[in-house]
Amino acid sequence: MSYPGVIQQYRSLLDIPPHTSTVTLLEGDTPLIPVPALADKLGGGFELLVKFEGLNPTGSFKDRGMTVAISEAAGRGVKTVMCASTGNTAASAAAYAARAGMRCIVLIPEGNVAAGKLAGAIAYGADVLQIQGSFDDALNLVVELTEKHPIALVNSLNPYRLEGQKTAAFEICETLGSAPDWLCLPVGNAGNITAYWMGFKQYHAIKSTGLPQILGVQAAGSAPLVLGHPVEKPETIATAIRIGKPARGEQALQAAEESRGRIIAVTDDEILAMQKMLASNGIWVEPASAAGLAGLKHEIDSGRFDPHGKRIVGVCTGHGLKDPEIVTRGFAPKTLPSDFQAIESAIAEME
Ligand SMILES: *Cc1c(COP(=O)(O)O)cnc(C)c1O
Repeated sequence: MSYPGVIQQYRSLLDIPPHTSTVTLLEGDTPLIPVPALADKLGGGFELLVKFEGLNPTGSFKDRGMTVAISEAAGRGVKTVMCASTGNTAASAAAYAARAGMRCIVLIPEGNVAAGKLAGAIAYGADVLQIQGSFDDALNLVVELTEKHPIALVNSLNPYRLEGQKTAAFEICETLGSAPDWLCLPVGNAGNITAYWMGFKQYHAIKSTGLPQILGVQAAGSAPLVLGHPVEKPETIATAIRIGKPARGEQALQAAEESRGRIIAVTDDEILAMQKMLASNGIWVEPASAAGLAGLKHEIDSGRFDPHGKRIVGVCTGHGLKDPEIVTRGFAPKTLPSDFQAIESAIAEME
């Protein structure tokens, strides 16, 4: 039988109400790609795999949670959903709402949403509003609006989002036969790290697959969980994790502590360098998605982490196509006459 999407695949493991009426794009079932050359580049002596969540239907892991949030809402007759978003939640909510025949309203921070994400939200037919404020401001407004109006909130404050997102942990355990030693992932609003930890614990309780240590990674310019206080004006090129006051910050810290892992920060330069390293292994991810493995490199380089003999999974949360400008800005291909010799010599020069 073909793969049915995360709800049907894992229904008995998801804490969702009976009224849930499945709306799916066959999300999930993403590849766990071995990257031995990248492991060697980071010093070698360990196994490294990338869970490529950018291969979900709208290009990010948000689809795992969105199928559940929209299905639950659909089952109780919700007509309109709303979210605050740095972009990927908006595109995902818009796609699943469209499929369910619902209206979707998204609130984004002005000027800080990558082109591919905004285009997605528009293409799927969402009503897009932009505010002169941050993601955190947008989320506060959405919480208030959805309390006052008959509109369902589909940010990861919605518990059904996490129910869906935890299925990525199940898949990793199934593919490997056990949990990895370490899991590295980016942390923004902190829903995903919370969901992974829930998922690994649940799977271990029923199948004794063990538990990973979790390395959560924030961008240095927006690292409230590392600093220990909210960041008023978060800054980073990794717009998906440009969040100063994570809604699930407490749970993220708890996941790191319980798993005997940690949450650290890396610079934008480290993130962009890892984005390049991944691309040189054939895996193009948006900047935020490279943060988890940038964090792993940071820890190995600084001697705080000995990867020897370990099996490590890096979660790459979103596809590179989401943010094309980050790689094309400042790049102008050399323009040549349509002439054999000119091209032949240009190729020789570029080598
Ligand atoms: C949403 C998102 C994150 C951050 O996930 P949180 O659950 O907010 O911590 C990281 N990377 C990408 C690509 C995202 O879309």
